[in-house]
Amino acid sequence: MYESSSDLKQKDIYKRLEEHGMIIGIDLGTTNSLAAYFTEDGPKIIPNRLGKNLTPSIVSVDENDQIYVGETARERGLLYPGTTAQVFKRSMGSTKKFDLGHKQFTAEELSSFVLRSLKEDAEAYLKEEVTEAVISVPAYFDDKRRKATKRAGELAGLKVERIISEPTAAAIAYGLYEKTKNTKFLVFDLGGGTFDVSILELFQNILEVRAVAGDNYLGGEDFTDVLEKLFLQKKKIDVDTLDSKTRGMLHKAAEECKLGFADSAKSKFTCTIDGKAEELEITQKEYEEQCEPLLDKIRKPVQRSLADAHIKLSDINVVVLVGGATRLQVVKNFIIKLFRKFPDTSVHPDEAVALGAAIQAAMKERNQAVKEVILTDVCSFTLGTEVTVNRGNGRYESGHYCPIIERNTVIPASRTERFYTLHDDQSKITINILQGESRFAANNLLLGELTVNVPKNRAGEESVDVTYTYDINSILEVEVKVLSTGEVRKQIIKSQENEMTDEEIQERMEELSYLKIHPRDQEENKLLLLRCERLYEESMGDTRRIIDMEIRKFEEALNTRDRGKIEEAREDLKLALKELEEDF
Ligand code: ADP
Ligand code: MG
Repeated sequence: MYESSSDLKQKDIYKRLEEHGMIIGIDLGTTNSLAAYFTEDGPKIIPNRLGKNLTPSIVSVDENDQIYVGETARERGLLYPGTTAQVFKRSMGSTKKFDLGHKQFTAEELSSFVLRSLKEDAEAYLKEEVTEAVISVPAYFDDKRRKATKRAGELAGLKVERIISEPTAAAIAYGLYEKTKNTKFLVFDLGGGTFDVSILELFQNILEVRAVAGDNYLGGEDFTDVLEKLFLQKKKIDVDTLDSKTRGMLHKAAEECKLGFADSAKSKFTCTIDGKAEELEITQKEYEEQCEPLLDKIRKPVQRSLADAHIKLSDINVVVLVGGATRLQVVKNFIIKLFRKFPDTSVHPDEAVALGAAIQAAMKERNQAVKEVILTDVCSFTLGTEVTVNRGNGRYESGHYCPIIERNTVIPASRTERFYTLHDDQSKITINILQGESRFAANNLLLGELTVNVPKNRAGEESVDVTYTYDINSILEVEVKVLSTGEVRKQIIKSQENEMTDEEIQERMEELSYLKIHPRDQEENKLLLLRCERLYEESMGDTRRIIDMEIRKFEEALNTRDRGKIEEAREDLKLALKELEEDF
């Protein structure tokens, strides 16, 4: 039966609008998160409650169950380190709990607070309800971590039908999906604490992630630490003598110094230690020298990704830079040398991923989203065992790692290796089941252990076949078979699952709803007050008295609840703080 009344069509459209609401793209980063939406003029970033594009992925909770997200949380973290969490994205999908004061949260829940804050900001900015989001994740995120990200969105009250890989989103932001020819891209993403290289290939409108490599512990923060270390070394300060607050301040000072290199060949490092203002001037050349070891670490993943994708550097059509740390001059210079060509930086490296996610969101609405082939069907780490290596002349070296299923192997996969007895009359063989990339067994993660009995015999006469089978559901089956006796032992290792039903999500959402995000309209005032508190702690004597007076003046204005008065007092306070901070 057809309904032809135009009235009904109208109603349908309204209903659709009511049901759908706005859909946005979100880059949920390890260091910074941001949202974007699609307009007639293309994708645009949505500024947050403080008017900034980036919201630091930091969460803090106070004694009144008030949640702070972003810059305010970071400022709170300097004053109350035990109530603040950051870099939790690294633990996404795991059962690890983060302590915030007397409360505990998983990475997924902390991420949901960041998403809630972004959703609120987007709704205030767009003046309409935001109900749905496309959220980006690293290309190497497996199914478990993608599902956890999706749940984080759901806990924040967002429908998340689509998760997109970060390099794919960046490629879309660069308009690569519009290319008609087969094209190969390298996406170089250096964020705050992670480095990801991805090789993508566009083939008949499908973007395929051909290989990913990287370093989960390399990013802009390391380039900050270099400055911190240099400062401590030159000032002959032992970091162990500093309390956690001072260390926090020191890190902040180092970050400011790093940003100072943006427009100058030298930068100043200023920090108050034990009440004494210390200052150091660092030149770009000196900084570059200190960064050498870090730059060296960048080279290898780039080579590895090319090798894994079986693509030559000269076959790459476009190199795209993503991530805040690619804005560092030292990094840029290094990249040009490494790739022997200028990368494409026409889209802001902070924003590319969010903008791409917003384009994908809009295309999804129109049922023409870019198709992505992702790497969830490869093993993202190496699985192996521990062996003793014969160095000749009766010298044996234990503790070596023997890979069985190598990283980036297409799964399901099954591989068998044969191992022999080491000593005469050996009666047992133990297989340590390990995960990781290190040459040394001890540096890799121990997943389990299997021991079999072997008949006593001369060294090397007895052997076992070890078979690893790894499947799509992240289940590893290890089988050890003694060749001479036929005895078989098996062990199944499942990654810790953290599945939740829709009802459980709803329940947890209600449980978390008592935690309210700090009201948007008071955010700037709160941030200012926290900054004052920090300055107060950092200073002494007269300065303290001035700050104390300024805080009281501002609090009085806040108490009047008169918007005009509050704004006036806020501008006065900002001015006063600026002068004070300059004096430091
Ligand atoms: P993530 O993807 O991990 O969330 P981002 O892409 O936002 O991280 O990058 C954050 C890093 O970029 C930080 O270490 C920050 O210091 C660095 N960064 C941001 N802007 C600049 C800049 N102008 N110069 C140098 N480093 C910068
Ligand atoms: Mg990022």
